[in-house]
Amino acid sequence: MEDIFTKKLSSKELIELEDKHGAHNYHPLPVVLSKGEGVHVWDVEGKKYFDFLSAYSAVNQGHCHPTITKALTDQASRITLTSRAFHNDILGRYEAYATEYFGFDKLLPMNSGAEAVETAIKVCRKYAHEKKGVDENKAKIIVANNNFHGRTTTIVSFSNDEEARKDYGPYTPGFIQVPYNDTDALEKALQEDNVAGFMVEPIQGEAGVVVPDDDYLAKAKELCHKNNAIFIADEIQTGIGRTGSLLASCGNCDCQGHCERQEDTYVKPDILILGKALSGGAYPVSAILADDEIMLVIKPGQHGSTFGGNPLGAAVSHAALEVIRDEKLTQNARELGEHFRSELQKFIDQSDLVKLVRGKGLLNAIVVNDSEESTTAWDLCVKMAENGLIAKPTHGNIIRFAPPLVMTKEQLDECISIITNTISDFEKEWKK
Ligand SMILES: *Cc1c(COP(=O)(O)O)cnc(C)c1O
Repeated sequence: MEDIFTKKLSSKELIELEDKHGAHNYHPLPVVLSKGEGVHVWDVEGKKYFDFLSAYSAVNQGHCHPTITKALTDQASRITLTSRAFHNDILGRYEAYATEYFGFDKLLPMNSGAEAVETAIKVCRKYAHEKKGVDENKAKIIVANNNFHGRTTTIVSFSNDEEARKDYGPYTPGFIQVPYNDTDALEKALQEDNVAGFMVEPIQGEAGVVVPDDDYLAKAKELCHKNNAIFIADEIQTGIGRTGSLLASCGNCDCQGHCERQEDTYVKPDILILGKALSGGAYPVSAILADDEIMLVIKPGQHGSTFGGNPLGAAVSHAALEVIRDEKLTQNARELGEHFRSELQKFIDQSDLVKLVRGKGLLNAIVVNDSEESTTAWDLCVKMAENGLIAKPTHGNIIRFAPPLVMTKEQLDECISIITNTISDFEKEWKK
């Protein structure tokens, strides 16, 4: 076989390679990226784009952030993996740092987001049985309709997305679905026997950036506690600055997770689930955080992962969190987010093609005025890519806009022009 790693290949050839040799479990936009820096990515032909997906908010700190890259390469040349059969000299430091950063007693490190969700489910069930008198192996966890928590067999068991779920049964029992942003339905579900907890995304990202009422999380947590259940926030996509605060659970607080105003706005989860930007996209790192009463139900041998807590991931994650704080990225996300939505709203007011813009911080979406089955959102994303900005539809007719948080106002203004000009041009041809 000719050495395909040294031979120059076009975007078309590289797409064909994936198509021929890879499983077809994704449907990417036809763009082949080979370089990234900050808010920009470049394809193999050298065309430059603004990245408006940020790898589903994993790259909040921007592509190849020098601080994170340095932590990665420095640590990679010392030691990368010890397994948890032995200690390593980074993990304890990282756990001390991250628990202080987020304000919890303990951290349990994993790798992918789905693994952290699985970890939260296990801890929740075990805690409910050991400490809350829920019958053994009978614990139920309430989740929201249209949730996205990952792709494992158990997680797709409680998804109502047919595409994610169909044909993967038998499904894991023990989950109750309620409508999102509906505390009456939650209260009713909490009356069932053996309810252990409620797991929710503070903003539903994959569902199309669905923002609940301001008091939803606070009410939900209160109802959980009243009914002896715990409140679990999946902040894998919304956390780490994305929504203009350290966590979306912080509400409108600017505190990076530990200010005096915490009691007013911060709905501290009993279990916090993090992933994605926890490593700035340089390496898979996820975790759950909880206080001792909950976390210490897990004893040696009862849960783990070969790579979870490895020194390379810990060093990278430490750097990724430092960047968020040092560069004030949460504040930047908040300011730029407000500017983005107000500029897009002005445009939408005179557009027939786009119905609305919504979101928080730099997690935003527009809803295209066409049926959910139409290809309009996809076609718009293809046109935006041609014009130098890559974004992707979430569900049907919704396009998410989530650039790296290191963007400047000048860059964002350029992006707003690309987005609105593309939509205007598209609208001229649309439904002719
Ligand atoms: C991406 C995501 C996950 C899954 O994370 P993976 O790293 O893809 O396993 C879980 N929950 C939410 C809210 C997510 O956005």
